[in-house]
Amino acid sequence: MNEIVRLPLPMPGPDGSPAHGPRPAPKLEKPFKVTICVNQTCSMDCKLCYADCGASKRPELTTAQWKTFIDELIAEGFLHVFFEGGEPFHRPDFEELLAYCYRKLFVAVRTHATLIDESRAKRLKALGIGRLYVDLFAAIPEIQDELTCQPGSYDAVVAGIRHARAAGIKVTILGILSAKNAPHLQHYVDLAKELDCDQVGVLRLYPLGRARKNWAELSLTLPEMMAALNGLKVPPGVQLMQSWHPKDGNCCWQTAAVTPQGDSVGCPYMREYVNYGNVTERSLLETWDHPLYRQLRANDVEDSCPDCSTTQGTHGGCRSTAYAFTGRFTAPDPYCTHHNNGEDLRVLPEWLLREGT
Ligand code: SF4
Ligand code: SF4
Repeated sequence: MNEIVRLPLPMPGPDGSPAHGPRPAPKLEKPFKVTICVNQTCSMDCKLCYADCGASKRPELTTAQWKTFIDELIAEGFLHVFFEGGEPFHRPDFEELLAYCYRKLFVAVRTHATLIDESRAKRLKALGIGRLYVDLFAAIPEIQDELTCQPGSYDAVVAGIRHARAAGIKVTILGILSAKNAPHLQHYVDLAKELDCDQVGVLRLYPLGRARKNWAELSLTLPEMMAALNGLKVPPGVQLMQSWHPKDGNCCWQTAAVTPQGDSVGCPYMREYVNYGNVTERSLLETWDHPLYRQLRANDVEDSCPDCSTTQGTHGGCRSTAYAFTGRFTAPDPYCTHHNNGEDLRVLPEWLLREGT
């Protein structure tokens, strides 16, 4: 997931008109943080896996290649790296890579946590891991196990979270809103409190990887999504993160991501749509200068929701879902209540279904 750095809110117009609407995105010399999708293997087989774990025929970067890339980030003055997968701990050298970043980069990790026992949690704390983002797809054990295709996965994830919290590591639980967990979403938000987690993320379902293949079973219409989200009561001490109206951010201007094979794709949710070059052949900052990457950072969007522009300080919503449903990187985000125009988000465009077969 992407944590959005918020832009300062715009000033009202000279005539006192509301402070919203198109504005130039800030021009960064380099992204705030880099997401490293370090592998494409996992011990689970989730129906909604965007990485389509296990499907790639291309080799992942080796330990030495990732260390060379980390050296490049440090030399360029990057401060923040976010690791995800696949499941990062499924890679035997992952702790070695974390140790390589120690005291040079601020590190957060997205994981399903089932491979985190008491001793690993203590080692992660010693390695300075600031926060774990743990994929837990439902508060009902049977639904979690159905989504991961792995009996016992709910108990295993919860055990990993408890080990992390006992070691003093902050945990955000991440759920993806789908037809399976929408009826129990309040229970899911309450679960964050029960598990001593200070953040809960409710993420949208993206038509990528196996989620695309299972779209008919998992997807919801926008009104169904909003009905699940509206009226949620967030327990005290817990922060809810979501990216629907009025918080539909366009964070393309600040992000970078690299796939397990070394392709620079800007954001993990763009991995099937763009490729700005491979970091084993050129520097990340050379790929940052790719014309399409520059266009996506420029807030070049045909229309946007005034409310979301005001709360997020950015313009037009998520570029990945806009492209998926329209084939245009400049289109408004159809997950926006102002721009959905009756589009049934349960139905994927023909071209996307062809791509996925
Ligand atoms: S746990 Fe995450 S990486 Fe593993 S299969 Fe499920 S979605 Fe993919
Ligand atoms: S595609 Fe762009 S707007 Fe969407 S989550 Fe990624 S960085 Fe943010």
